[in-house]
Amino acid sequence: MARPLRRLDLPLNLCRADRFLLASAAVTAGSAAAFGPSALSLGIPLGAWALLLTDGVFRPDSSILYPTLVRGRTDRRQVALTFDDGPDPEVTPAVLDILAEHQARATFFVIGRYLEKHRAVAERLLREGHELGNHSWHHSHFQNFYSAAGHGVEIDRCGELIKSMTNSQLEPWYRPPVGLKSPAMARAAHKRNLNVAAWSIHSRDTFARDPHKVANGVVGRIRPGDIVLLHDGHERDQRHRPLILQALPLILKGLRERGFESVTVSEVSGETLPATPTPNAARLAADDARS
Ligand SMILES: [Zn+2]
Repeated sequence: MARPLRRLDLPLNLCRADRFLLASAAVTAGSAAAFGPSALSLGIPLGAWALLLTDGVFRPDSSILYPTLVRGRTDRRQVALTFDDGPDPEVTPAVLDILAEHQARATFFVIGRYLEKHRAVAERLLREGHELGNHSWHHSHFQNFYSAAGHGVEIDRCGELIKSMTNSQLEPWYRPPVGLKSPAMARAAHKRNLNVAAWSIHSRDTFARDPHKVANGVVGRIRPGDIVLLHDGHERDQRHRPLILQALPLILKGLRERGFESVTVSEVSGETLPATPTPNAARLAADDARS
């Protein structure tokens, strides 16, 4: 299958966010040159630029700043369940039991500092055929204000730990905290040739109280290739998300009744992860510091 996410290799090798910023500046300058500088000739392109930038930053499935996988391009009745913010020592093992019971596989976007603490849970997860994705080291809600170097540290620290556990040279899928992107995040991801994944269905499991509502919301909308956002962990220490343990069996039962199977993000994407050499974290950090 073609690799739809692959970036264009332009001579300057600019990331998509920088090409967007350059194009916006060029359109604004062109408008001012053609119509003379006025509130309208500058305001219209700047307003459009601000709207697009806001969309790129705040809409997790936007690809304006960086190519982002939202759903797999498949006609097969396969979907990817994804679990964020773990591993959690109480919830994740119970999630794994439920997935095993239903012969389902999933992708876990882990927070690096929890992965380090609960390695045994993640080792079990890998043994059982699931996939580990990178969800940054700290999961700070302020990460989107970081420089490219700051994003790089968060990405590399978690990514290197995952690669050491999977014995793989491949960069795992990356999902930024809260799904937010920025030009700096795009530069860091571009430098590492990361594959970034969002979701097509948000289960609302973080604020719903009724597991049936969560399950119906997912199963009622499901289509081939969907990527579903769920949570097995909490970004705050010592907090758990037990609702998933009631909702997950209902979701898996509903999927089976509709003939769907749950696989990993890599499988549903049809994407072969880039076979780049293991990035040298120290070199990348030095490059980031220079840029
Ligand atoms: Zn998260």
